Amino acid sequence: PKDTVDVVVVGSGGAGFSASVAAHDKGASVILIEKEPVIGGNAKLAAGGMNAAWTDQQKAKGIEDSVDSMRKDTMKGGRDLNNPALVDVLVTHSKGSVDWMTAMGADLNDVGRMGGASANRSHRPTGGAGVGAHVIQVLYDNAVKRDIDMRMNTRGIEILKDDSGKVKGLLVKGMYKGYYWIKADAVILATGGFAKNNDRVAKLDPKLKGFISTNQPGATGDGIDVAANAGAAMQDLQYIQAHPTLSVKGGVMVTEAVRGNGAILVNREGKRFVNEITTRDKASAAILEQTGKSAYLIFDDSVRKSLKKIDKYIGLGVVPTADTLVNLGKLENIDGKALTETVARYNTLVTSGKDTDFGRPNLPRALNEGNYYAIEVTPGIHHTMGGVKIDSKAEIMNAKQQVIPGLYGAGEVTGGVHGANRLGGNAISDIITFGRVAGEEAATYSKKN
Ligand code: ADP
Repeated sequence: PKDTVDVVVVGSGGAGFSASVAAHDKGASVILIEKEPVIGGNAKLAAGGMNAAWTDQQKAKGIEDSVDSMRKDTMKGGRDLNNPALVDVLVTHSKGSVDWMTAMGADLNDVGRMGGASANRSHRPTGGAGVGAHVIQVLYDNAVKRDIDMRMNTRGIEILKDDSGKVKGLLVKGMYKGYYWIKADAVILATGGFAKNNDRVAKLDPKLKGFISTNQPGATGDGIDVAANAGAAMQDLQYIQAHPTLSVKGGVMVTEAVRGNGAILVNREGKRFVNEITTRDKASAAILEQTGKSAYLIFDDSVRKSLKKIDKYIGLGVVPTADTLVNLGKLENIDGKALTETVARYNTLVTSGKDTDFGRPNLPRALNEGNYYAIEVTPGIHHTMGGVKIDSKAEIMNAKQQVIPGLYGAGEVTGGVHGANRLGGNAISDIITFGRVAGEEAATYSKKN
């Protein structure tokens, strides 16, 4: 294969695949490289959904939402530290990104609630199967259809520039081929975050030392170093998110959609202690204050039936089940009497339509059907909000706020979109939208250079 192209994309998560397909469709030749032996990055693990406002899927379900409401929720969730120009791109493109994926064959027809959202806007496959694996499959199939040159086991090492500072290619290291240059007018960094690299995490936020992570092994942040060596400015690296519900038994992340669809959180004393669908930072902090620094997701068969993903967790053996709440309590050493009272109280709140105890904004269903389930959960490091600084065209900037010509960034490797805290469902939205923007911009740029 030849090693000269218009655009090189580094990383095969949702951002990298979206960028590759979008650049191709704008007429660019593309090489996509991935350092791991498998595609999909962390994106393929995403379970919650793809946030988008004012979509056909929402309208078909009679859900009222607006671009402005998604903007407000995103800014509030990010503690208003987000870059408003990037949030604008995220929210105004969100419907278009759902349509783009749908046109390529994705099923994003199920719409559910995630933390910090004032409407149901998390789009996922019918029946609530994992959104990330589906999105990656659809993008991969479309990349294959377009004959995009994809190289696994190939790590991006260093950006090559000419004397004027324009990007001219990338030094890579193939597992079998060794080091070689790929010549290109544009490089898109879509290398994801660094949640799996606890040394890097703990240096930035010492409170998180020793925390387990939900991420795949490639989420180490070497892309950040590649960008920094090319002169990229960084932003918000200190904002690192714990996901509140990592299964203590299996180390697997339990999607927020379980709570969105009706599960409650209780402590070992059998009591609720938080609005279950608050933002991730608040939910995580609340769980760490409970006995044993963990809590239980409690739900019934009606919640189970509403979300296919739950059967996966049951299959992994991390979900104790019993016919009554008292028996469930016995299995997990939770106060069963208190648990029974808590669920009865919660069910009256569902009937009244208002959570006067903790202000939970959605009360989708009472918990009174059939078997009961408990998943012990604790926070795990999930997402790194900070990263390389980009503008609204996904161009990477240096410390003087100037664009580095030919260098683009998209997805978790970038900072600014999510401020201090990312809302559930906004990652898939981010990577598809900014991946597309980066791909299209890089293709257009490469034609001129
Ligand atoms: P996003 O959600 O932003 O698309 P992901 O974590 O899903 O990010 O994907 C990033 C991908 O980039 C991962 O598969 C990771 O292994 C890969 N990657 C990270 N650093 C490099 C690198 N230096 N060279 C090639 N691939 C990389």
